[in-house]
Amino acid sequence: MSGSGSQGNGQRLRADCERCAGLCCVALPFTASADFAADKPAGQRCTHLTAENRCSIHAGLRASGFTGCAVFDCYGAGQRVTARPELTPGPEMFAVFRVTRPLHELLWLLTEAEATGHGGAARPLIAEIEALVDGDAAELRGVDVTAWRARVGPVLEEVSERVRRGLGGRDLRHADLVGARLRDGQLRGTTLRGALLIAADLRGADLHRADLLGADLRDADLRGADLADALFLTQPQLNAAHGDGTTTVPGALTRPVHWPSGSSPARHEAPHRARGMPPGKAAPVGGGSGLGGRSGNGRRTGRGGRGRRNDRAGGADGTEGPGRRPG
Ligand code: SF4
Repeated sequence: MSGSGSQGNGQRLRADCERCAGLCCVALPFTASADFAADKPAGQRCTHLTAENRCSIHAGLRASGFTGCAVFDCYGAGQRVTARPELTPGPEMFAVFRVTRPLHELLWLLTEAEATGHGGAARPLIAEIEALVDGDAAELRGVDVTAWRARVGPVLEEVSERVRRGLGGRDLRHADLVGARLRDGQLRGTTLRGALLIAADLRGADLHRADLLGADLRDADLRGADLADALFLTQPQLNAAHGDGTTTVPGALTRPVHWPSGSSPARHEAPHRARGMPPGKAAPVGGGSGLGGRSGNGRRTGRGGRGRRNDRAGGADGTEGPGRRPG
């Protein structure tokens, strides 16, 4: 078995900016904050997006105050919507993208669930969502994503319980572990779904089959941690955390490019909360699925939940940010 360590999520659920019309840089809004250096309403092109749909500050997103872009991931929704023959870049395409993106995140999680070998009802749900995403654009625009999350959530919960059974893990769901000292922690089989792990010290932690659905890992220190078989870990969660070459990441995910390739010196920072973000206001990275318990935000995460640091993709191509290539 392997949780997120599976190879279950293929290319169809990976951002491919080369085949996307820059949808996340236009369709989604963001709000000036620690993660975005400016405001941008939905449907308006980002001022850093070139005519060729490349990001002119791609190489320096974090330094430029656009960490939210560097963390975001569309889970392949961008190229899928761009490829729809009946749509051209404009309000309708943007609206379809805003629905397709969270549905693709659910597909990612369900595919991971299925890959554990304990998928249960995951397969029929995947088929249903795939049909929905391939279906009529007008119908897709009207999809109630919250209702879908409500259907998917129990399936993931069931898979999690089956996979973690017998491992003796604890139940730390929704726990406030901001800045917690969990170095070398034995967290195997523990459910941390929706937990606030902002700036937590997880160096060397054993997260074998730990359920990380919707856990907020912003600035968490993952150096030396074993995440190979962590459940429901997503790329945005990794992108928001700090690790290095000693961090074991699931095979289905990409090691963030801002992580040093070897072992790195201590860089544990003050907890995010100390920088003015009360934990109750924190956005659960990876919780764009709304399944971790603390998100469920109507204002989506990612290039969606942009008022908060959340998911902006680390590209599968090894470049920072899934966003547009440098202009
Ligand atoms: S990735 Fe897109 S939204 Fe972010 S700064 Fe670059 S062009 Fe703007």
